Amino acid sequence: MTIDLEALYIDLHRHPELSFQETRTAGIVAQHLTDLGIEFEEGIGKTGVAAVIRNGDGPVVWLRADMDALPVEERTGLEYASTARGIDPAGTDVPVMHACGHDMHVTAMLGALERLVATKDEWAGTIVTVFQPAEEHGAGAQAMIADGVFDRFPKPDIVLGQHLTPLPAGTIGVRPGTQMAASDGLTVTLFGRGGHGSRPHSTIDPVVMAAATVMRLQTIVSREIDPRDVAVVTVGSIHAGLKNNIIPAEATLELSLRYPDDAARERVLEKVERIVRAEAAASGSVVPPTIVTDHTLPPTINDPVATTRLTHAFNTAFGTGTVVDPGMFTGSEDVSWFAREAGVPLVYWFWGGIDPEMFAEAKASGTLESAIPTNHSPFFAPVLHPTIEVGVDALVVAAREFLETGGSGSIEE
Ligand code: ZN
Ligand code: ZN
Repeated sequence: MTIDLEALYIDLHRHPELSFQETRTAGIVAQHLTDLGIEFEEGIGKTGVAAVIRNGDGPVVWLRADMDALPVEERTGLEYASTARGIDPAGTDVPVMHACGHDMHVTAMLGALERLVATKDEWAGTIVTVFQPAEEHGAGAQAMIADGVFDRFPKPDIVLGQHLTPLPAGTIGVRPGTQMAASDGLTVTLFGRGGHGSRPHSTIDPVVMAAATVMRLQTIVSREIDPRDVAVVTVGSIHAGLKNNIIPAEATLELSLRYPDDAARERVLEKVERIVRAEAAASGSVVPPTIVTDHTLPPTINDPVATTRLTHAFNTAFGTGTVVDPGMFTGSEDVSWFAREAGVPLVYWFWGGIDPEMFAEAKASGTLESAIPTNHSPFFAPVLHPTIEVGVDALVVAAREFLETGGSGSIEE
């Protein structure tokens, strides 16, 4: 290995960058790609980087890693903890931390590319690697697609990616079918008629309208969705009014919706719209409410055939029992856009970064939920080893499995 992956990870961790601002990270990626002699283009979808290794006839395998960090103040106490700050889209100065492990994703990907370049005589085909910006905004994949990544690079036969998660280091979590939920972020604006707080009869009160709407929206999951199905309807923000004696003219709600598939998505969206309109009508509102979609993330659905094949390859490479079914996550990802756009299979897996002993103790004492910091926590602190090594090996095993002479399962140096 010529890339010092531990040093690379620590450097990335110390210098996290917010979504669509990953210029330093992209520069480091570009430097390593140059050193490895890999052809690449920068600035795709603002700060994205895409690279290609052409190695004769064979399948085109896309590997994806995301690069962005979060507005979180790191509290891990680690020697290499981030003290970085950044400016968020609202113009506010915020702390920045790699609290979701995307620094580990970039590190593992560069380690894997180095290995794949060094073993080019053992495989054939094409590897396209996407270093994606702004996953945390759910916008980076679409930005790269809109910027022509599919025209500028060979189209995939399969898309592969991985995410760090609070499983024990050395463990891989993957399941066929829905791995992560679909999600929509909506802004609902309710229009009333403003006036004096002492004369409610002359107004249409949007505060009451908003309150009734929030309560009624809760009945979607509790009363309308089959209890065996998964759905989430969260109203994460509600804003109306400035003063106690003024009835405001409007109210806004921000909703986060989650579902396992496109059919469930349509059903929940239809119910949200029906309730919002009906509550406005019930309040006597004369201006219909507006519902704006701020972002849409598709479900992350693992192709059953490819996932079964890869699970077998992982168990062969790492030892039987390495792969567990982590269940469906209600979190969402934008990696699927690449596979959906190309109409090809996706396999997206999770790999553990928690000290196995710490994980076992927490499990034994029933404190798994409280003792193990999850992604987005200010205490999120994956152990460096064997997390880095397993992340590299998993990408190499997966890429090799779907390339022309793949399936060797070899993870030796
Ligand atoms: Zn995240
Ligand atoms: Zn993430």
